[in-house]
Amino acid sequence: MTVKNWQCQDCGKNYPKTTNGFCSSCGGLVLPVDSVTVTDTENILPPMPYQIPKGQCGLGILAFDFSGSMNEAAFPEKDLPQQKIDLIAQAFDTAMKKLSNIANAENAYVAVIGFAAKAKILKFMKASMIDHTHDWAAWIYKQQLNLLETEGDGTNITEALKLAREIYDCALKGDLSKFGFNDFAPLHHDIAIGDDVFSIPNIRVFVYSDGKHSIGEFINYFENATLIPRAPNVNGLICAYFGSVEDEGFESLYQIAGTCPRHGIKGIIHITTPEMYPYIRQLFHMASAASGFCAQCAKEARFGE
Ligand SMILES: [Zn+2]
Repeated sequence: MTVKNWQCQDCGKNYPKTTNGFCSSCGGLVLPVDSVTVTDTENILPPMPYQIPKGQCGLGILAFDFSGSMNEAAFPEKDLPQQKIDLIAQAFDTAMKKLSNIANAENAYVAVIGFAAKAKILKFMKASMIDHTHDWAAWIYKQQLNLLETEGDGTNITEALKLAREIYDCALKGDLSKFGFNDFAPLHHDIAIGDDVFSIPNIRVFVYSDGKHSIGEFINYFENATLIPRAPNVNGLICAYFGSVEDEGFESLYQIAGTCPRHGIKGIIHITTPEMYPYIRQLFHMASAASGFCAQCAKEARFGE
């Protein structure tokens, strides 16, 4: 297991591992600690192969696990009716409706990838194109059914990451023309890390899965991906895992998740209790609006702490 240290984000209590995601002392979120490594000399790292242009746009890439196991009960031990897919569908519906309402909807882009035995780009749109009267939850159920029928069951995280990385690289280069958009250049936000201020493009990736990769070899296509050349582990990738931290699937997502430059923790959350749902909803919104990096960012955005 790669995760060495878990810490309560509210009281700072350390845990060797986390069970349900919350602190037994204060109820705060228990998340895996990490630190942003900033290299002093730019020469240590290979230079970015291209200049990242500056513009006004944001992009959220959402990759959803549509494997058959998503139709199992979300919280079986609690005897609740929700299936795992219901949580995705509802959170996505809320996120799309919120996104269609944001001020700069013309500059906010969202790409949706679904994966089972294979991965597919299901939708690529601007927030201004989102119909807020549409039933986006129903859309998710339909996409899942289609994908399982046409491609078969499985959990092909590798292929989902490959597609997401392709979109991510095009966006960083400021060229989404192959996806039908001709005016993309990312907005940057300044974030302080230590004594330095870094300009970070508004591009985020959100991966949601309930199992381990099951088709061929697991390849981390986000290895070496970064939004800041001098901080190689800040890649803007956030993961939500439906299951135990002891499972192999969690380990893979932990590997690909980026580190939050504000909180120094990994952009990953594991969902074991219904109390996690508000975080999931906020993470969906944050990722689709290309802001925030981790569950603690989501908590602060939602609860205003
Ligand atoms: Zn954060």
